[in-house]
Amino acid sequence: MFPLPDWVPLRDELRELEPYGAPQIRDVINLNVNENPYPPGPETVAAITRAVTDATSTLNRYPDREASELRDALAGYLGHGLTAERIWAANGSNEVMLHVLQAFGGPGRTAVSFAPTYSMYPEYARDTHTQWVTGQREDDFTVGVDRAVTLIGDEQPDVVLLASPNNPTGTALPLDTVKAVLDVAPGVVVIDEAYSEFRRAGTPTALELLDDHPRLLVSRTMSKAFALAGGRLGYLAADASIIDALRIVRLPYHLSAVSQATALAALRNSAELLARVDELRVARDDLAAWLRARGHEVADSDANFVLFGRFPDRHAVWQGLVDRGVLIRETGPEGWLRVSVGTPAEMAQFYQALEEVTA
Ligand code: PMP
Repeated sequence: MFPLPDWVPLRDELRELEPYGAPQIRDVINLNVNENPYPPGPETVAAITRAVTDATSTLNRYPDREASELRDALAGYLGHGLTAERIWAANGSNEVMLHVLQAFGGPGRTAVSFAPTYSMYPEYARDTHTQWVTGQREDDFTVGVDRAVTLIGDEQPDVVLLASPNNPTGTALPLDTVKAVLDVAPGVVVIDEAYSEFRRAGTPTALELLDDHPRLLVSRTMSKAFALAGGRLGYLAADASIIDALRIVRLPYHLSAVSQATALAALRNSAELLARVDELRVARDDLAAWLRARGHEVADSDANFVLFGRFPDRHAVWQGLVDRGVLIRETGPEGWLRVSVGTPAEMAQFYQALEEVTA
């Protein structure tokens, strides 16, 4: 299939590329894409079913183009005095971020991030013809303020993208770092808080800074803590004028009536959906402690996954785990692997498989 045959008139810079995505393997324990391992509970399933049934009877009509009711509910969930006109929503935070790059990046414009970080970021830049520049995180995967300020000062980027907690390292940003970046960045600063609900006690959210920083954008998703990865609903909070800029680049009716109904019903049942988050945070800390006790290096994590290593041949470890029915992710700097937090039964199987592979 790839690379595509020469007759396909693909853009030159895409010619050698393959579609992005983690391996999807059947009949294994999936600890590779940071999903919530617990499916929606019975009340939520019933509520979503009812909402989708209602939406179905209006499917001859286009949906609410502005997704007003959903954005209002998302604002209510986030709190911090936010209202619907300061919320954007799209099909996953992947699409939210693409909208950000479409509106604020583009030809002749630059986006900056700090590696290792989420591997989709350079793809948003590529797809919007935005120049992509990466600085390096420190050895402990934090963003060094001096380095960040220097790079942003030199590059004068139109977009800065920072994940907090970061994927694949789990590292959260202190608000002082975010403020230092906002002080020097001439364009928009996106703090991607996809994993925010899993953060440890005392770790702040950049939502606190929104009122004083009109060029700050805080992105969230229902794919992780909300156990709604299959529903595809990401969202973002920012100044109302930033949201209006995103409305210019979105496709009309980008959020289907079914997506809007699903997400709204899920939000109304957020208590049930988020009920396992505390348990997952404890399991994350147990996972890190278990790995450390066996002599592995572990990055401090505020997310629902842990980056650990280092292995002289990480692919062999990854493959050995797959052979034992456990799928984790070969990602991050050389020698490291990332594992998502699963159910107790899944973790037990991961622990046993890793002991065997590394024996
Ligand atoms: N940001 C980060 C840091 C992520 O890890 C992910 C998913 N892996 C996303 C955004 C996108 O998630 P979604 O499109 O499902 O909202």
